[in-house]
Amino acid sequence: MSTLASTIDPPTSDMAIPAPRRVAVIGGGLSGLAAAHRLRELDSGAEVVLFEATDRVGGILATTRREGWLIERSADMFSTREPWALDLCRRIGIAEELIETDARFRRAYVVRRGKLIPVPEGFTLLSPARVWPIVTTPLLSLRGKVRLAWEYFVPRRESASDESLESLVVRRFGREAFDRLVQPLIGGIYTADPAKLSVAATLPQFVELEREHGSLIRGMRWKQAASRGKEAGTGARYAQFVAPRDGMQRLVDALAARLPPEVIRLGAPVERLSHHAECWEVTIRGEASPLRFDDLIVAVPGHVATRLLQSVDQQLADLLGKVTYAGCSVAVIGVRQDQLARQLQGFGFVVPAIERRSIIAGSLASLKFPGRAPEGKLLLRVFVGGALQPELAGLPDEELRTLVLGELRELLGLTGEPEFFEVVRWLGMMPQYHVGHLDLVSQIETQAAKLPHFALAGNSLRGVGVPFCVRSGERAAEAILASRGAAASASPEAARG
Ligand SMILES: Cc1cc2nc3c(=O)[nH]c(=O)nc-3n(C[C@H](O)[C@H](O)[C@H](O)COP(=O)(O)OP(=O)(O)OC[C@H]3O[C@@H](n4cnc5c(N)ncnc54)[C@H](O)[C@@H]3O)c2cc1C
Repeated sequence: MSTLASTIDPPTSDMAIPAPRRVAVIGGGLSGLAAAHRLRELDSGAEVVLFEATDRVGGILATTRREGWLIERSADMFSTREPWALDLCRRIGIAEELIETDARFRRAYVVRRGKLIPVPEGFTLLSPARVWPIVTTPLLSLRGKVRLAWEYFVPRRESASDESLESLVVRRFGREAFDRLVQPLIGGIYTADPAKLSVAATLPQFVELEREHGSLIRGMRWKQAASRGKEAGTGARYAQFVAPRDGMQRLVDALAARLPPEVIRLGAPVERLSHHAECWEVTIRGEASPLRFDDLIVAVPGHVATRLLQSVDQQLADLLGKVTYAGCSVAVIGVRQDQLARQLQGFGFVVPAIERRSIIAGSLASLKFPGRAPEGKLLLRVFVGGALQPELAGLPDEELRTLVLGELRELLGLTGEPEFFEVVRWLGMMPQYHVGHLDLVSQIETQAAKLPHFALAGNSLRGVGVPFCVRSGERAAEAILASRGAAASASPEAARG
């Protein structure tokens, strides 16, 4: 693989050898690791130090094991539709370890009056690509189906301004399709309030379809024809997702292993940042003197960045503080298959808010990928809270257990006690891209660009999914190198090798 460093002419004997650049990366989640890795990949002489507050890298991404079970504490797969994570896996040598979702179970269910009904085949996120499954689904009333089909004739929106997911879907497909299908499907992914969620920031492909084709159904059918039906099915959407055989932790471990050992500093919570006379100062909690760096990449959650940057640029800190966060708790449950009276043949189910239940979604994690549960057993992950029920995510473990198991008894016919029940808390950890988010991000980026040798990365800006975090880290690294002119002689794309 060629690197940027190898494309730059070596210094001649009468040229002064420039001192190696010292770059600080704050935050050892996927975004920060991707940034540190990209810096070293493009400039192997760079002295990179990555500061991570906790005693492990990976941040939100974490995989744990217990007697035959493989448990994902947050993300359990990533999309290959966007190339950045897959491309990184290839470059760090773990592409061969990626496994696809089990084709036998590529479907999801929606709760309707306490029953689990399959999502109509061909319904991808918020638009149908096939007619017959919609005609026959018991999820919608006849009136709801007619209104959904009427989408074909709903005039194109004239305004180019952002709108909420709820506004787009109700406008085009009607209230019923929104309440019974789209709200739970999207709510399950973003744990968001669809009345606030920006479509431009989260589902721009649908904005584009309306703009280009005047109708989402027409646009989906056009896409289906163009891909000769390959993209039409709900199952086809799941075919885009992969995970490392050993779990998502493998991705961060492989990234960390590519960095020289002196790069990563664990247990190093950054308390203060400042910029003086062409250099950045990083102060670690409990350490008296700050450390000096030429460049700085901040890859921590938005609310942490807000705090750290207050002393550097109040305006930037204020803008970052405008990105709001929600949270959820994930109940991870191991059961025997014969404990479930209703055996789902799918990856999981989502729960519409109108059903007034206390869980957002349930994932049959061990049906998605092999090797997640012992023979004859099932690994379930149940999501609680989100932007619409924040009070539930914070319930004490015992109350959460009673609530979740109660729901599973009603919905899946769970009997007896699970083999284990763990709670993973992600309170205030999920950025919410509200209407106007892209404008806010533009303002943040404009303000950040005024700071010398500085870049931001992380999931609070241009995508929460794993591929987007990789892209944010890599772009930050490339921007830092470009700011010093080092990247001028080779484009990042060329340097990928
Ligand atoms: C429950 C859940 C399920 C998800 N499922 C999926 C999925 O299936 N697919 C998918 O693509 N995405 C999924 N995501 C999203 C994705 O996992 C995250 O967006 C991504 O991992 C975030 O990475 P990050 O590096 O930007 O942030 P983080 O992982 O939050 O990393 C930030 C790091 O900064 C550190 N830090 C904080 N403060 C300081 C400080 N002062 N000094 C030093 N270090 C500090 C933190 O300890 C942390 O390690 C999910 C997220 C959640 C919560």
